[in-house]
Amino acid sequence: MKKLEQLYEGKAKKVFKTDDPNLYIVDYKDDATAFNGLKKGTIEGKGIINNRVSNHLMKMLEKNGIPTHLVEEISDRETVVKKVTIIPLEVIVRNIAAGSLAKRLGLEEGTKLKHTVLEYCYKSDELGDPLVNDYHIYALGIATKEELDLIASYSFQINQLMSDYLKDLNIELIDYKIEFGKTPDGTIILADEISPDTCRFWDSVTGEKLDKDRFRRDLGNVEGAYHEIMKRLLGE
Ligand code: 5GP
Repeated sequence: MKKLEQLYEGKAKKVFKTDDPNLYIVDYKDDATAFNGLKKGTIEGKGIINNRVSNHLMKMLEKNGIPTHLVEEISDRETVVKKVTIIPLEVIVRNIAAGSLAKRLGLEEGTKLKHTVLEYCYKSDELGDPLVNDYHIYALGIATKEELDLIASYSFQINQLMSDYLKDLNIELIDYKIEFGKTPDGTIILADEISPDTCRFWDSVTGEKLDKDRFRRDLGNVEGAYHEIMKRLLGE
């Protein structure tokens, strides 16, 4: 397959067209941003780790019945994915209070939630990804009720599968952000990435943060944490 012109460059990835109209190639970068692009940096080797970790987790989810965009990893940083139009929602699932939820509701980070929390943010850099609810989503025409019901159902299934999988590796899944896309025939599938950039992973024993919060909060050993996640998931 041939890599053709670049379609898009995001904060962490580039997307290229290919000679197959139904397939794209994603290329993961080492660039890191936080706080809507206000904080910028580089995490050495992040592109390789996120590519491999995301593919590994998506493979596990596919095996368990979740449709994803993953087709084939073609290099350390590049993966062939199905062409989708991204639904402009950040779907956030939370098991333990942290980050913006802890701040907004005045909870101490690490507080176990009595019920899984599902949140949606409208993807818009200009607006700073505002929190929206189901009715905003229908009102703006972002998704229909049927589509959003499916997205919610996949999101809870993904939470169960990922939490169980990571628990065996001594990783607690605190929260995560996922994105869904629509294929040209209208099928909704999991897209984007699942990685230490998009999840909060805490060591189950020590509570150590093994994710992008180390970069966001200047906690040090950012690269070490990303490597530790890859080691636990892929054994290397
Ligand atoms: P919070 O809303 O607490 O900042 O984030 C909740 C979860 O979603 C965290 O795991 C965080 O990594 C992820 N998340 C939320 N928004 C973004 C975003 O714009 N980019 C990335 N990479 N992750 C996000």
